[in-house]
Amino acid sequence: MNGLAGRVALVTGGGRGIGRAIALGLAADGANVAVNYRRDADAARETVEAIKKLGVRAEGYEADVTDFAQCEAMAELVLADFGFVDILVNNAGNASRGQSVKSTDPAEVHKLFDTHAFGAWAMSKVVIPSMREQPRGDIVMISSATTVQLPANSAPYNMAKAALEALASTLAKEERRNGIHVNVVAPGLVDTEMGRRLVKGAMGVEDIRTMDTTAPFGHVCTPEEIADAVRWVVSDAASYVTNQRIGVDGGAF
Ligand code: NDP
Repeated sequence: MNGLAGRVALVTGGGRGIGRAIALGLAADGANVAVNYRRDADAARETVEAIKKLGVRAEGYEADVTDFAQCEAMAELVLADFGFVDILVNNAGNASRGQSVKSTDPAEVHKLFDTHAFGAWAMSKVVIPSMREQPRGDIVMISSATTVQLPANSAPYNMAKAALEALASTLAKEERRNGIHVNVVAPGLVDTEMGRRLVKGAMGVEDIRTMDTTAPFGHVCTPEEIADAVRWVVSDAASYVTNQRIGVDGGAF
C-alpha cells in the first residue's frame, strides 16, 4: 500500500504496541507522523527514529489524552510543526483490572472512560478544525472485540469502548459533509504488552505465543495486522467508506 504522501497523521499512544505499528505503517505509505506518548519517552523516541528511516517526517509529543488542556497544547504544537493534521488515530488505551462491578474501584471506571472515550473525543475536537480545511480527513478509533463480546469482569473497559464506538458513529454523521471519514477498527487479542498482560491475568498464560495453535489462522494477531486495516481505511481505496466498524479478530467472536 502507499498513497499517503503529503498527509499528516497523529497517532495517540503511538510509541509502542499497536500504535507503534500504525505509526510505522502510515509512514511506510508516505504520511508524515506525529507520535503521541504519555510516559514511555524512550519507546516514542525509538519509534520516531524508525519512522524517519522510512524517509518521512516524524516528531514525538508528550501528552496525557485524559487531560483536555494537554490535548489542546499537543494539537497546537503538531499544527505548528506540520501545518495540519488530516489523519487522527485514537489508539491510546489501557486495560481494566478484571474485576466484577461489585469489586471495582470507582476510580478505575473514570480512568478507563477518560482514556478511551473522553481522550478520543478531546483529540477529535481539537484536530477537526484543521482537518476540515483539507481535501480529506480521517479519524480512526481503535476499539475492541469487547463491544461485541461484553465479557464479565470487564465493565470499565466494555463501557469505555462502547462509548468510543458511539462517538465514532456520531462524528461520522456530523463530519461527512466536511469530507471527514470516521471509522472503527476493532481488534481481538493482539500480541502487545497489554495483550500479554491480559492473557496472563485472565488465563495464567505466561507466553502468548503458546496460544498460536488455537488462535484463528494459526497465530495470535500481530500489531501489524491491525495497522494494515488502518492503512486501508484511510487510503484512497476506502474513498466511500465511513461510519464502519472493521473487526480484526479472525472472526473469533
Ligand atoms: P499497550 O499497553 O501496548 O500500549 C498502550 C499505549 O497507550 C501506550 O503507547 C501508552 O503510552 C498509551 N497510553 C495509555 N494511556 C494514555 C494516555 N492517558 N494518554 C496518552 N497515551 C496513553 O496497548 P496496545 O498497543 O495493546 O493497545 C492499543 C489500543 O488497542 C488500546 O486502545 C487497546 O484498548 C486496544 N486493543 C488492544 C488489544 C490487545 O489485545 N492488545 C485488543 C483490543 C483492543 P505510554 O507508554 O507512553 O504510557
